[in-house]
This record gives sequence, C-alpha cells and structure tokens, in this order.
Amino acid sequence: MSLSLQDEYIKRESLYGAQNYSPLSVVLERGEGVYLWDVDGNKYLDMVSAYSAVSHGHSHPELIKTIQDQAQKLAITSRAFYTEPFANFLQSLSKVSGFESVLTMNTGAEAVETAIKAARRWGYFTKGIPENKAEIIVADGNFHGRTTTIVGFSSDKSYKDGFGPFSSGFVEAKYCWSECDINESIASFKKMINKNTCAVLVEPIQGEAGIRVPQDGWLLKLRELCTSNNVLLILDEIQSGLGRTGKLFAYQHENIKPDGLILGKALGGAMLPISAFLSSKEVMDHFNAGSHGSTFGGNPLATKVASRALELLYEDNLIENSHILGDYFKSKLKSIDNKIIKDVRGKGLWIGMELNESEVNAKDLCLMLLNEGILCKETHKTVIRFAPPLMITKDQLDSAIKKITKVVRSI
Ligand SMILES: *Cc1c(COP(=O)(O)O)cnc(C)c1O
Repeated sequence: MSLSLQDEYIKRESLYGAQNYSPLSVVLERGEGVYLWDVDGNKYLDMVSAYSAVSHGHSHPELIKTIQDQAQKLAITSRAFYTEPFANFLQSLSKVSGFESVLTMNTGAEAVETAIKAARRWGYFTKGIPENKAEIIVADGNFHGRTTTIVGFSSDKSYKDGFGPFSSGFVEAKYCWSECDINESIASFKKMINKNTCAVLVEPIQGEAGIRVPQDGWLLKLRELCTSNNVLLILDEIQSGLGRTGKLFAYQHENIKPDGLILGKALGGAMLPISAFLSSKEVMDHFNAGSHGSTFGGNPLATKVASRALELLYEDNLIENSHILGDYFKSKLKSIDNKIIKDVRGKGLWIGMELNESEVNAKDLCLMLLNEGILCKETHKTVIRFAPPLMITKDQLDSAIKKITKVVRSI
C-alpha cells in the first residue's frame, strides 16, 4: 500500500507534467540537514544537493527564521522601489567577493544572459567593436543553462535539437582536462580571438559535463591570454562557487581573478532562487536604466535570505569543511580500487566517479545506491556525481562511503 502512494504521485506527474526530466522513482516529502525523507518515511542521504544548490543543508533553522521574519514584513516589490534587504545584500556580496558591482537575477541562466549582455556592451562601448559584431568564446562541453541563446552554443545535441534558430556571436574552443595538453587548449582559444572578441566565458570546472577538472595552470594561462588581448574573462561559478570546491570560488585555486563572475544555486541558501552577475564598475556601468531587468530579481525576501546564507558560509564553516572532507572523500573513493571505477576526480565536496562502461552503467549504480539510502545522480551514462550538502559531518560521510564501497564491490 505504501509503495502505491509513491506510484500515485509519479503517475500524476507524468500525466499532467512535461516529460523534460527522468527522475529516480522516489517521492520526497521532507528534508533536514543532509537527509531527505520520502512520503513513506524512508530516509536518504542527499548526494545530489539539487545540483549543488543545497550547500547549507535542507531546512537550515536560521534561514527558515530569516524567511519567516522577512515574509511577514515584505516579500516582493519589484525594482521600481528601493529596499533595505537589497541594498545590504549588494554590499555584503561585493565585500565578500571583492567585486565592485552586483546585478541580481533569479535563475542561473538569467545571470549568464546578464553576463553576455554586459560583455557585449563593454565590447561595443569600451573596446569599440563595430555594431552587432561582438563575439564570445565558449568551451566545448559547456553547460550554462537552458535559454535559447545559451543552448545555441552548447555542444550537447540533446540540449539544442529542434530549438533553433540560434543567436550568432559565439565560437567554441577546446576545454582542457584530464590528459589534455594545456598549450593546445590555450592555442585553440587564441585562434578564436580577433578584434571583435569581447569575452571568454567558461566554467572553471565543468559540472554537467561530468566534473571535468582542468589541469593545473590552465585557468592562469587563459587569464593571461584574455588580459594580453583585451578580452574579458567571465567565469560561470553557478555550481562551483560559494565553497563547493573547498574555496569560496574555484578560480582561487589558481590565484587569478576574472573580470566577470556568475553565481546562482547555493546563493539562495537552498531556500529561494537568486543569481547574480558580478563585475567591475567599468563593465557594469554600461547597464543604464531600462537596459536590463527582472520583476523578481533582487526582491527583499530572496536577498534577505541570501545575505544570511552568505554569513552562514563562514559561521557554519562550510568552505573549510568542503575542502577537508572533500579531500578525504576523494581519497576514500580512490582507495575502493575496483575494476568498475575508471576515474575519481573533483575538488572539495564535488566529486565525479567515472565508471567503466563495459562493467556497469551509472544510472543502475544510482538505483543500487538508492536502495542503500543514498541519493546520487548520474551524468552522461558513465559518471556518478557526489555532491553532499557542505555541512555534512565526517561520521555521515563515513557511513555513506561504507555503503558506496559495499555496492561497488557487490557488482
Ligand atoms: C545549473 C547551472 C546553470 C543554470 O542555472 P539555472 O538556475 O538552472 O538556470 C548554469 N551554469 C552552470 C555551470 C550550472 O551548473
């Protein structure tokens, strides 16, 4: 009888909803910290964390309190008026990040669109690129969201098939990871640069592509290439940012600073959608009144929660925990040393385990882990992503490692 309750909701979803996802067969009802419960009361450890949006853990009591207090006062105003939570959030994010100026939106894709607009205006108005000629260089394997402009420069067929025609002004260069030759990748970016290039837009680690971690030194060389050619370097840290990789931002592993930074996901404290584009005043000041906007962007409810979530990154020690437990988790997964595992990679609590396709497929392994009470998600058939909330404890992680080891060895 209890099983049929889950089946009921699953059936209802497919009856009335678009089929643009294929979820695991579990209907969730409640979350607390690293744990989730389904409608039958079964408990799971969350290793998906809503694609790294749940860094603070589910239902953080401080964030619930913040949401309740602010919702009782004022939730939505639009940017036709000023509010205190918005002003304070801009100041906090600017101080924490070291970027002069912030523009808030709601979803990641909207913040990427904002970055594209900012880069193009800078290209036309500062760099002097002729009208409608601006080009942005992206990387193969990129994931920046789902708008028609963004999927137009994706290299994944399933993201774009049947959705054209697409925007022009994007060219692709070679990302660098695994055995890649750094110089070859940088040369492919260099080859794409011309007098109309306004920006390079990349993820410092490619998440959706399967946690592709570039070789050390690559981002630094890309920074140098952009600087010497008067091209903006814009990093999409929607998933990698805010502690996920064990530093506040993934680019800090290479001691560089981009010209533009895109944040989302965990920015809302696992409570509300909020995203942001950050840059210098020189770039941001090309936006003037009327040139860009969003009804919900920067609303007092989301910005109040996001301000508190930023503080909690430090109060709850999430960045350091991600660094320490991430290294530990990765070494433990590597030490399983089994023929089904081809590679274990990642930074912080953001780890990809690549499987040997001939031995097992990633979705089947996720189903087996589901039976052990661990929720994870495959990407591209062969990679399982492990991305627990950053507040996970060593004991909770140890218990997950035990179960993962057991499942891997049972194949
Ligand atoms: C999730 C993600 C996006 C898109 O964010 P949405 O909130 O789903 O629009 C863009 N870029 C990266 C790197 C992401 O991980």
